[in-house]
Amino acid sequence: MRYYTSLVDLIGNTPLVQLRSVTSHLDPANAPTVLAKVEYFNPGGSVKDRIAVRMIEAAEASGELKPGGTIVEPTSGNTGVGLAIVAQQRGYRCVFVLPDKVAADKVNTLKAYGAEVHVCPTAVAPEDPRSYYSVSDRLVREIDGAWKPNQYANINNPRSHYETTGPEVWEQTDGRITHFVAGVGTGGTISGTGRYLKEASGGRVQIIGADPEGSVYSGGTGRPYLVEGVGEDFWPDAFDRTITDEIIAVSDRQSFELTRRLAREEGLLVGGSCGMAVVAALRVAERAGKDDVIVVLLPDGGRGYLGKIFNDQWMSDYGFLDTAAGDTVGDVLT
Ligand code: PMP
Repeated sequence: MRYYTSLVDLIGNTPLVQLRSVTSHLDPANAPTVLAKVEYFNPGGSVKDRIAVRMIEAAEASGELKPGGTIVEPTSGNTGVGLAIVAQQRGYRCVFVLPDKVAADKVNTLKAYGAEVHVCPTAVAPEDPRSYYSVSDRLVREIDGAWKPNQYANINNPRSHYETTGPEVWEQTDGRITHFVAGVGTGGTISGTGRYLKEASGGRVQIIGADPEGSVYSGGTGRPYLVEGVGEDFWPDAFDRTITDEIIAVSDRQSFELTRRLAREEGLLVGGSCGMAVVAALRVAERAGKDDVIVVLLPDGGRGYLGKIFNDQWMSDYGFLDTAAGDTVGDVLT
């Protein structure tokens, strides 16, 4: 018999898949190889399973998380799923705090795993008592035996990527990777994977962050954008800014258009931050050479966004859906 005793053992070791259609506009004489690291193959459906297991194990070892304790975390959903799966296996309770822009399906998913969920307004400052950061701090104070992983400041977030994602990408490409592209949320993925790849290649691999237009990472003011899980209005400790060579800003519209193309043309039903990262990867590909190998990390699957990005009405309500690039919403209606 061949089986796993725990789902946790299935975290990581995700495949690389070549992007062949969304890259077809590239000049074949110069086109680099563009490979997607498809993180929805993790058991919780996202890259965040990696940090969940590492953060929990470190907290158990340090004594911060005791048997029967409660995990309290502000999360856009994916970290919650990872934490819920690991917690469930080890007898912890989970309480999650989410911003209200998160898709209803994501909230319901967390509840399905048995977690308790609090939804908070997005359009308030982080220090506002209603913000999802403030509410989670209050819950930590009020609940006995509460532990907050705090993925934004927890060194085990970038460390999990330094120990798993980075070595996987390096080995899967036989050390031929030249560019690594990933969206930046907490910054854990890009900092940990990027640091490993810089070290392994003697500084040769270029590390490129993708960021929603409006987020501070690419020089914005923190104004709202719709793509979920990436961008911020502050600089988290988990993000080591010395690792990235460049940050590319991508609009919601471009992110969502490419997300839809990934499903239709590549068979990859993935989330909006994946489309965003691929837009950035294509910009890199357009100026790269034939021998270059670009790896772009796709953080999650698209099932949680069916009512939004993959819904024509939602897309057209925001003016994202039209017949040709550059058309206005008016053109859609005619
Ligand atoms: N995309 C999605 C959908 C996410 O949930 C996250 C995590 N916040 C990211 C991208 C960014 O990853 P990281 O936090 O490691 O920067």
